[in-house]
Amino acid sequence: MEDLIDRAARDILASEHTIALTGAGISTESGIPDFRGPQGVWTRNPEAERRAYRGYQRFLDDPRGWWLDRLSASPSALGELGQRDPNPGHLALVELERMGILKCTITQNVDALHERAGTKRLLEYHGNFSKLRCVNCNARFRRDEFDLEAMLREDRLPPHCPECQGIVKGDTVGFGEPIPQDVMHQSLEEAWRCDLMLICGTSAVVFPFANLPRVARQKTREMRRETASGLVAMEKVPAVTIIEVNAEPTPLTSEGISDYIIQGKTGEILPRIVARVRELRS
Ligand code: NAD
Repeated sequence: MEDLIDRAARDILASEHTIALTGAGISTESGIPDFRGPQGVWTRNPEAERRAYRGYQRFLDDPRGWWLDRLSASPSALGELGQRDPNPGHLALVELERMGILKCTITQNVDALHERAGTKRLLEYHGNFSKLRCVNCNARFRRDEFDLEAMLREDRLPPHCPECQGIVKGDTVGFGEPIPQDVMHQSLEEAWRCDLMLICGTSAVVFPFANLPRVARQKTREMRRETASGLVAMEKVPAVTIIEVNAEPTPLTSEGISDYIIQGKTGEILPRIVARVRELRS
């Protein structure tokens, strides 16, 4: 383990554009369950997964009904997200960003914990539970920018966008819902640009997010190699190092998309990697 932590720190220091990809696993140590880990919400309750798949279709069929359901619903299967705090894994990524090394964090999480931890350059691929979004122009709003309770009382749901009059829904991206174009494009650009990808706490089975490491893996660069006869050959070599920090191996591990995995908890491993980066830099 110590060897891998040292290797990750050295790889990170050698990189010019490190980005992080995160999933539900980075927030389990904040008390938010993941979906597919051994104690995941869906591992324990497959019916909840089937229900989740129907949510976006419900919005398409009947936006008003979707809002009525949402405003009368008890807390989501993930619990009271607003009452959870960032953990040492989130904070380690913030420190790496402040050191000028981590250039972007792309998260699948909707819990807003990276934002609350202080991450600046953040792409919330599946949205943010505390925000609303216009499905037409993608403008984001804080929940308190709409008086939803008054709209419910006065039968004025669904809310409409003040900019373009499009229908407003929760920012969280449902199954079957397209990823908002802005975040989708910026994430692809980052995956294409990075030379190191640190993937933290994701089972990497939800697409299109799980394509990002695959896109990065396709990048190659040319390297000069001198042959035994003294002649020079140009070889294509991978242009990105992909490191997973996860409790268990994933398809990225078994398919050889990642270069290596450091198996364990993000809240323990990420701070150790960052501490080693700090040591090596001093
Ligand atoms: P997932 O549940 O499919 O996989 C989580 C992975 O993290 C598993 O491989 C698990 O073994 C690992 N893990 C759990 N705790 C860990 C820890 N402390 N350290 C390291 N690894 C740990 O999650 P996913 O891949 O993010 O996909 C689930 C989807 O559901 C996401 O798209 C996300 O939008 C949503 N989701 C979000 C939250 C959240 O916002 N916190 C929580 C659950 C699900």
